[in-house]
Amino acid sequence: MSEHTPDLAHGALRGAGPGHDVVVIGGGAAGLSGALTLARARRSVLVVDAGRPRNAPAARIHGYLGREGTPPGEMLAAGRSEVAGYGGRIVEGEVAAVERGPLGDFDLVCAHFLHRHGDFPRDRVLRAGARAVAPGGVLLVVGHAVPASWAREHRPDVSFPTADEVLAALELAEGEWEVLVSGEVERVRGAPDGHPGPPVDAVLKVRRRPGRA
Ligand SMILES: Cc1cc2nc3c(=O)[nH]c(=O)nc-3n(C[C@H](O)[C@H](O)[C@H](O)COP(=O)(O)OP(=O)(O)OC[C@H]3O[C@@H](n4cnc5c(N)ncnc54)[C@H](O)[C@@H]3O)c2cc1C
Repeated sequence: MSEHTPDLAHGALRGAGPGHDVVVIGGGAAGLSGALTLARARRSVLVVDAGRPRNAPAARIHGYLGREGTPPGEMLAAGRSEVAGYGGRIVEGEVAAVERGPLGDFDLVCAHFLHRHGDFPRDRVLRAGARAVAPGGVLLVVGHAVPASWAREHRPDVSFPTADEVLAALELAEGEWEVLVSGEVERVRGAPDGHPGPPVDAVLKVRRRPGRA
């Protein structure tokens, strides 16, 4: 969060009252519509809005039934008051990060073949997956250890880490996890067209020890 905003933590707003059922990030047309529906459904809703709707430079709204020619700011002001009318809270601020608590809630988190080209932050996504695992729960990561034999082109920006490399990238806290499976496995089935040339999968299965944070 930026300096002038409350801090979102563990689903609650630190320093801004009790937790809410839902925190909506962004109070434009979309955020306020969602907040209105949720507030009408008796959820406690908080909207955090940085106040920079994309249509701010426009003088008037067109083609929006019932609002033809309305200045955009006027429509948002009406929306905010409709949300507030159902008990929704709206605060000014910019959400810079959303964090989970130190303990996850999930008994099983799986990530299968998360290979993307470009600057996809695979390691960061997997670390977030590990954080979501509850004590006693399992994280299962399966991926290609080598490029698939049927891949049409070789992309140098796609990585194919071994299970040990995935384990190292997870940066799991020492003593908190036990490794159940870590290694490369040849797939029984070959390419999707039935041809042989089985790719090798990297399989990592780790368990968060019970009772540890
Ligand atoms: C110049 C222009 C004219 C347009 N004219 C029309 C028109 O005439 N008719 C029409 O139907 N549509 C029009 N549109 C399209 C319409 O403006 C958009 O479809 C609509 O604004 C999308 O609403 P939104 O809530 O998704 O996003 P936005 O309206 O952009 O609202 C997003 C809100 O979220 C806030 N926000 C974003 N990130 C964060 C964060 N991290 N923390 C807190 N707050 C955050 C922003 O500050 C902003 O207030 C126009 C668009 C533009 C650019």
